[in-house]
This record gives sequence, structure tokens and C-alpha cells, in this order.
Amino acid sequence: MAGVFRFAPSPNGLLHLGHALSALLNADLAERSCGRLLLRIEDIDRTRCRPELEAAIFSDLGWLGTAWETPVRRQSEHFSDYRQALQKLDAMGLVYPSFESRAEIARLVFARDTEGDWPRDPDGTPLYPGDAKSLSRAEREARIASGAPYALRLDMAAALARLGETGKTLSWRERGEAEDDTVSEVPANPAAWGDVVLARKDVPTSYHLAVVVDDAAQGVTEVVRGRDLFHATSVHRLLQALLGLPAPNYRHHRLISDADGKKLSKSTGATALRALREAGATPADIRRRVGLGDGS
Ligand code: GLU
Repeated sequence: MAGVFRFAPSPNGLLHLGHALSALLNADLAERSCGRLLLRIEDIDRTRCRPELEAAIFSDLGWLGTAWETPVRRQSEHFSDYRQALQKLDAMGLVYPSFESRAEIARLVFARDTEGDWPRDPDGTPLYPGDAKSLSRAEREARIASGAPYALRLDMAAALARLGETGKTLSWRERGEAEDDTVSEVPANPAAWGDVVLARKDVPTSYHLAVVVDDAAQGVTEVVRGRDLFHATSVHRLLQALLGLPAPNYRHHRLISDADGKKLSKSTGATALRALREAGATPADIRRRVGLGDGS
């Protein structure tokens, strides 16, 4: 079936070999299924994302030879869509404001850890340790009116209770990177993430909310991305169920590591596509380096 694929980089650094693998896999799979490839710029973080880095994404992807449809969706141009989704969740009574600073959260986690190991999410970040959920309505309103900055969080227990049996049996179709199209049904475990942030203090959305709203808005049927986002899919499936959005198929591919075996980061200059290109690498070299053959 012709799928709708998307590559969704954030313009907060230069694309590296890990991005190349993701972009090329999306492009190859889209071509193989006579499908479409969309490009989405995930630029909700207005302090870290820069226009020149967005331009570099277009240039690097063009050089690699991946062709995407236009217009490109920029998340920063769709804050009203995320606000609408938030309002929907709020109307279900599933959203609450939390006011702690990062330092306060760290102190709370430290205190909880001394009472016993405070749980971490699948990425290793401590679950939200605060008690903002139990603030009275009047207290919340007073703090907001005083100008205190706040994040909006999903009340995970209430969200799961609302979904009932559906919440207990959420899962996703995972194909991994294999060529043979073997599908496995992965059980989702959103509770492992605790009360995730839906809107940050400085941004009217979060990665989780924006990605779910956008995949549905763009009609994405195939999500192909790195294994670092495998567990986040549990949160995405939960939000899709709450918002009545369709569930795409997922493929979480291997990550490319550097010579020391560490995951590549945006600051790993030597594996930036820009640097490799300037050093004389060809797009076929890049395909080989990420283990995809040279495409011939
Ligand atoms: N913007 C995310 C990143 O650059 C990818 C999000 C996704 O594919 O769901 O890591």
C-alpha cells in the first residue's frame, strides 16, 4: 500500500549520519511503496532552533538526493493546532498546571530518592515528583494570575482511567528496520512516563503533543525514526487514543554511533553531513557509511 512517510528533524544543529540513515530509510521505503515523503521541521523550541540551520537541512537533504513534497510543515506555524488539542484534553479533565522550577524538581526528586528509589521514565528522567495535581482550583488560578510560569501536564492516572480497557490494551504495529516487513504488536506502557509535559513553560506545546497532532494532520501512515524514540511511542499511542486520532505504523531503526560507540549528537561535528561533504564524501559514501549500500 502506498504509505505517507515523514522525516522530522529539528533545526537546532546540523544533520549528522544518524539523520542521514533516517532520511534515506524514509525515502527508500516511500519509493518502494510508491508512497509520499513529507518533511516536517520540528522547531517548537524557539530559543535553540535557527533559520540558518533549517536552510542547512534543506541543503544537506537535497545533496543526499532525497526528494520531499512541499509545502514543508513547520511546527512553529501551527501552535493553534496544538492549543486546540490541549483544550480537548483539558475539557476531559486530564490537564493540570505545575509550577516548580527545574531546581525545585531536582530537590523533590532527591528527597523522594532518599525515601526509596523514585521511578525514572524509559529515558532515565525521574517522573514528575510534585503535587501540583492536588492543588485546588482556586490555588491554581491564584498562582496563574500572579504571573507564575507553569507547564501543563497530562494527568496520566486520569487519562488511563478514562480510556478504561482501551488504555490497558494500547499497542502499536512495529516493523523495525527489517526488509521482510515482519510486523510485531508492541504493548504500550504510557504509565511508565508519569505525568508528561504537554505544554512547556516557554512553548505552548511539547514534542509528544506536537508530533501526534502533526502526524494525524499530515495523514502520516508510516513513522520511521530512531530507536531512541521507541518508548515514547507509548505516550504517542495514548494521546492518539484520547484525541481520537489514527495510529500510524512504526519502524524504529538502529542508531548510528561514533567511533567510541556513543550515540551521535548534534555537537558531534565530525559526523555532520556538512563536514563529510566538505571533506569530499559523496552521497553514495554516506549511504555506505550508514549501512544502506550505495543504492545502485
Ligand atoms: N524531531 C525529532 C528529532 O529530531 C524526531 C521526531 C520524530 O521522528 O518523531 O529527533
